[in-house]
Amino acid sequence: MDLFKLCQEVLGPLPVWISVPLALGLGFVVFFLIAVLASNSGLAGIGHLLGMGLGVLVGAVSVAGAISGALRRPSAVIDPPIPSASASAREWDLELVQAIEWKRFEELTVDLLNALGLRANLTPHGADGGVDVEVRDPNDNELRMIGQCKAWPEGIVGVKPVRELFGVKTANGVAEAAFFTNGTFTREARVFALANGVDLYDGAKMIDMIRSLPNERQMDMLATATAGDFTTPSCPKCETKMVPRQSGAYPPFWGCARYPRCRGKLGMRKSSR
Ligand SMILES: [Zn+2]
Repeated sequence: MDLFKLCQEVLGPLPVWISVPLALGLGFVVFFLIAVLASNSGLAGIGHLLGMGLGVLVGAVSVAGAISGALRRPSAVIDPPIPSASASAREWDLELVQAIEWKRFEELTVDLLNALGLRANLTPHGADGGVDVEVRDPNDNELRMIGQCKAWPEGIVGVKPVRELFGVKTANGVAEAAFFTNGTFTREARVFALANGVDLYDGAKMIDMIRSLPNERQMDMLATATAGDFTTPSCPKCETKMVPRQSGAYPPFWGCARYPRCRGKLGMRKSSR
């Protein structure tokens, strides 16, 4: 019986004091329709019984669906965090690059690599495990470098994702691999990267590279990187902008604005060691 699922999806997001009466009403409508139809066909007795039975069944399933849907939904949207001072910054600094959300950070990385004279592209979302950026040879279109981006404000990239990137590099026989973050790397990650030929770029190093560009190019990149809302993270599943949520005693998290159609989630601060 998919009535349960339907009520979960449709009535679940509503407040319980609305969804439960609606669900009960649905049961009553079923009873009423069957009873009236039956009376009109001269079968009032059977119609009442049948209507009563089906009405109670539909009502009960709908109420159960509505309540189950309500239990699944995360609690209300909370106030967005106070925007960082860098949101209005007009020059490149570490605070600004750390405020950039993951998707915009991937785009910034590609922009930077292109500004440095490489032919860089974002890989299609979710296409290749652990690769966000690819650099191809302008002459033969050969894959020259793979890149991974992690935008973790105040976060630290551990050895695990660096090791995974090295694995993809080796498996695909690519000459170079580079890891970009607006946070920093752990010592273990740095040691591994140095030993295995993975280039690491943290927030400070990326700022240095951006500042090495002609001023006009820097300003172009700044305008692109900070256009519109560049701090609210995009959903990792569907890339819609997320909304801050809080559920019970758990720390606040980012939830997809399209919930419950999309169940994408992100921690407010992420680190992996
Ligand atoms: Zn989503």
